[in-house]
Amino acid sequence: DGTQVSVLGLGAMGSALAGALVKAGFATVVWNRSAGKADALVAQGATEAASAGEAVRASGLVIACLFDHDSVREVLGPLAGDLAGRTVINVTTTKPRQARELAAWAAESGIAYLDGGIMAVPSMIGQPGASILYSGSQEVFREHVALLDVWAASSYFGEDAGLASLYDFALLSSMYVMFAGFMHGAAMLASAGVSAGRFAEMAAPWLTAMTGELAGYAEVIDGGDYTVAGQQSLEFSNLGLFIEASAEQQVSAEPIAMVQRLVQRQVDAGHGAEGFARIIESIKHPAA
Ligand code: NDP
Repeated sequence: DGTQVSVLGLGAMGSALAGALVKAGFATVVWNRSAGKADALVAQGATEAASAGEAVRASGLVIACLFDHDSVREVLGPLAGDLAGRTVINVTTTKPRQARELAAWAAESGIAYLDGGIMAVPSMIGQPGASILYSGSQEVFREHVALLDVWAASSYFGEDAGLASLYDFALLSSMYVMFAGFMHGAAMLASAGVSAGRFAEMAAPWLTAMTGELAGYAEVIDGGDYTVAGQQSLEFSNLGLFIEASAEQQVSAEPIAMVQRLVQRQVDAGHGAEGFARIIESIKHPAA
């Protein structure tokens, strides 16, 4: 659409993002700290800048896909003067607090700022199934959504620049805990000589069916009443047998013991008759 865009950082992800922009017909300037990473993109039609400053001055829109928060500060910090009046979309993974810190720095420097969290691996960029979460300047999101949609399905969550990162971490956190639960189950079955492949065949449809419970839990949590009828109670959710069985099979009970601790704190506080969703209170109020 005639938009000129500069991409800082040509690692695995930055190269995929820049490549998709070139392919979509955007005039794309690229820069990478170490030499050689731009060659393939230049062959496809990108222009290489000799420095980050040159890349920033070339375009009104600057994409940062660097390693972490510190590398973004290191590259963009000294260029605040050049960036004033321009737009930065930072898709480097950062914590919510770091995204807010960058947004505050951008606001002070007169830079329009949008933060992004990439829910995809590089090979998924530009393919169906990829998703990128954004927060920060809604104006920037609206103005550039056509460009952002070249990479992935784009979702915007609000002016608080930390929100995209928070959603990103929330989604990944729930995924990792589910995966750890799968590994625990696989280890228990392995103790009886059952392959992980056999367990995966059972676990995938089981876990898929169980995701049907999430909306019901959400309704209880959002309603704020854990005594709503029809729920599995915390007392019924005593996971002591799972822990004993793990020990008897000589595998670690850690993943399930973690859940049991969250249950136990609520039971100890006198909420045993209430629903399982109440374990979120153990998480919202960390043990001293
Ligand atoms: P890579 O390790 O492949 O690339 C890192 C990039 O950051 C390189 O271009 C590197 O430059 C540059 N860099 C690192 N430190 C500095 C610095 N101090 N100054 C300047 N440039 C620096 O990582 P990815 O491309 O895979 O990831 C980039 C970002 O995207 C990360 O925040 C990552 O979390 C995120 N992401 C990646 C995903 C993936 O599957 N790869 C998935 C979702 C998010 P040099 O070549 O000179 O070392």
